[in-house]
Amino acid sequence: MNYLSTRGDTSPKKFCDILLEGLAPDGGLYLPAHYPQIDAAQRAALRSTFNNEGYAALAFEILSLYIDDIPAADLKAICLKTYTADVFGTAAIVPLTPLEEGIYLEALSNGPTLAFKDMAMQLLGNLFEYELARRGESLNILGATSGDTGSAAEYAMRGKKGVRVFMTSPEGRMSPFQQAQMFSLQDENIHNLAVTGVFDDCQDIVKAVSNDLAFKRNYRIGTVNSINWARLLAQVVYYFAGYFQATQTDDQKVNFAVPSGNFGNVCAGHVARMMGLPIDRLIVATNENDVLDEFFRTGVYRVRGSADTFETSSPSMDISKASNFERFVFDLLGRDGAATRALFGAQLSGTGRFDLSADARFATAATRYGFESGKSTHRNRLDTIRATFEQHGVVIDTHTADGLKVARECLAARPLAAGTVATLVLETALPIKFAQTIVQALGREPDRPAKFIGIEALPKRVMVLPADVAVVKAYIEAHCPEPFPA
Ligand SMILES: *Cc1c(COP(=O)(O)O)cnc(C)c1O
Repeated sequence: MNYLSTRGDTSPKKFCDILLEGLAPDGGLYLPAHYPQIDAAQRAALRSTFNNEGYAALAFEILSLYIDDIPAADLKAICLKTYTADVFGTAAIVPLTPLEEGIYLEALSNGPTLAFKDMAMQLLGNLFEYELARRGESLNILGATSGDTGSAAEYAMRGKKGVRVFMTSPEGRMSPFQQAQMFSLQDENIHNLAVTGVFDDCQDIVKAVSNDLAFKRNYRIGTVNSINWARLLAQVVYYFAGYFQATQTDDQKVNFAVPSGNFGNVCAGHVARMMGLPIDRLIVATNENDVLDEFFRTGVYRVRGSADTFETSSPSMDISKASNFERFVFDLLGRDGAATRALFGAQLSGTGRFDLSADARFATAATRYGFESGKSTHRNRLDTIRATFEQHGVVIDTHTADGLKVARECLAARPLAAGTVATLVLETALPIKFAQTIVQALGREPDRPAKFIGIEALPKRVMVLPADVAVVKAYIEAHCPEPFPA
């Protein structure tokens, strides 16, 4: 399998070439040159692999379709080491539970940091360690987080050879639980940098450091952000696992409802659907930051400024633009790299928007690619959490509530298509991460998994730094004692 860029560069690259990279050199995102097609016989084989050997074996089979530069035995070992009951809390890894007529919850949030980002990040940690050892290289991951991404990255990279993490976060602005999760890590290779500023300051610092090409090269700065293809690929697996749990036969279909921000999660669903997994609808659920809902309703993609980006009670979906969206638009435009470059390059940077409403291909987002969308507000979130608890005794987190709200709305507007057994709502976090809103909705604290009891009292390992690029660079220099081999 070769990879190409959404902006037209087709010089062939292999999986491990792009594993440690961010954007393609032409500013595009990497995608496979084609989507491997799963026919009915292969689907049946994958179902029995999943039923008999479990999630890790299914992951290996799917990853193998996209990765041909890691020996099969090594890739299998990496999958088996990553997707264990020990790390993900259950043998099923992504257990499916019926909620009500026509709706299931697929749990993606039983990993180390209780959010779905663990599903991909845990694999990424093991892939990075493997590939860096093979090359005799090291990598310094520099990131900015307001919560979920940073903790998932740290728990994936802790103790890994050849990797250091420098994670900036806005001082005092993450929830006490999130701070405790990150700052209680005592691993030598994990550096928490609390920046006196807001999240945008942290992002600006990361950008400034990455734009200093000499520094970036000398200190081998890398990232783990959501545009990384390996993260997306890891997520494709749980669409298959959800499908196999919800259906008995391979002529049945399902819908997925996906709480969305950067379009990474639902883009993996799009890839699964393009491979031939029988998905009828992909339902994109946003919060008040409704960039994506607006596009699927109107054909207009309009990036928000920081003044129009709201801080909400589903904060991991608070985005001003959806960084993975370009991948879908590339497919929507018939994989036309020049057209994609025109939209996401000149158009977006010039006007902050583009409009496909008059383009005949826009209608195919629904008809051919199965997309539907909706949005959810703080009020909807509280109502959904409360109603779900009252009706089913189940406490869901704020992001999952956005997904469920929109899933119910879509079902009410249009019943399941013939042959479609259910809508699977992806549960993207556990409620304990967003306890304040749960208390507001239910008047009680959400349950806390045993391993997190008392974490706020653990010793903290964090360095408070001013929002100053030079200071952050100096910190990195001081903590990279040995020059990396060239
Ligand atoms: C990151 C995140 C999302 C959004 O996922 P995208 O891939 O950015 O669309 C939703 N819910 C939770 C809990 C998250 O951490």
